[in-house]
Amino acid sequence: MIILDGKETARKKSSLLKTKIEKLTKAIGRSPKLTILLVGNDKLSAHFVGLKKKSCEELGIECQISQQSETIPQDELEQKINELNQDESVDAILVQLPLPQHIDTSSIIEAIDYRKDVDGLTSKNFGLLAAGKPYLIPCTPKGIVTLLKEHGIALDGKRAVVVGRSNLVGKPTAQMLLKENCTVTIAHSKTANLKQIIAQAEVVVLAMGQENVITPEMVREDAVIVDVAMNRHAGKFVGDIYNSDNLPLLEKRCAAITPVPGGVGPMTILSLMENIVTAAEKA
Ligand code: NAP
Repeated sequence: MIILDGKETARKKSSLLKTKIEKLTKAIGRSPKLTILLVGNDKLSAHFVGLKKKSCEELGIECQISQQSETIPQDELEQKINELNQDESVDAILVQLPLPQHIDTSSIIEAIDYRKDVDGLTSKNFGLLAAGKPYLIPCTPKGIVTLLKEHGIALDGKRAVVVGRSNLVGKPTAQMLLKENCTVTIAHSKTANLKQIIAQAEVVVLAMGQENVITPEMVREDAVIVDVAMNRHAGKFVGDIYNSDNLPLLEKRCAAITPVPGGVGPMTILSLMENIVTAAEKA
């Protein structure tokens, strides 16, 4: 069984990206720049923002964190985004989610200029991906396909199932796999016959955030499994299927699997860095 090591793949690809950023910095006379809007004081959000800033700094991308109060009104937050949209020194804008409850998240995302939307979450970027003309692709789906390709996993003509239909992961991952010529099924909590659908799939992407709904016995032999989930279990992160109890059987049955942690997570951050560079290049 191949372990689809996202940490190592992201490390290798980051060093190539760093060289590209050095050239770009020379060409445009400044570093590419990301601004992250961080609203409120949620500790986990602050932690994720810190990781993104660290990755930017390691690669030579300027990362500005724009801290906003927990009680910021919707129109004020939209105004901040409009200012960043107009600011030519800012190549990329990211709004750290989740936002406080009084904020309409969807309107905030839509306020971002799609050319600076490095999370790829605006309807414009979503539609362009669905139309087969991607501009900025959501980071986790992009990272998944990069990881599979870097490990030489053939996707053309394969039967794939994506379990999860969120705008963040499930739907765009299905679009990406379709673009790679997979025959794709999207499953969710109301899917009937999930067991039969899983049993047929050569590529299984799990993005439920629910442990052990899909067990190793359910996947077909030689399946490639991408476990996107980050479930907290006894103080550790585990996947929807990837955990120490399931690993021996997974090793016997499947062709390849992403570990949790160290699989999709590092590839998501790498894709964010790539999207910032793409946004700066296209600008
Ligand atoms: P989400 O918005 O909660 O979506 C979960 C999806 O799973 C929904 O579509 C839901 O179906 C489906 N689902 C839940 N229980 C199910 C069941 N028993 N059977 C079949 N489908 C079921 O979550 P998300 O934002 O997409 O994230 C999914 C997971 O990926 C989470 O664990 C998250 O932490 C992780 N994640 C990891 C990364 C990374 O970089 N590694 C990035 C993003 C997310 P319904 O639509 O019917 O409710």
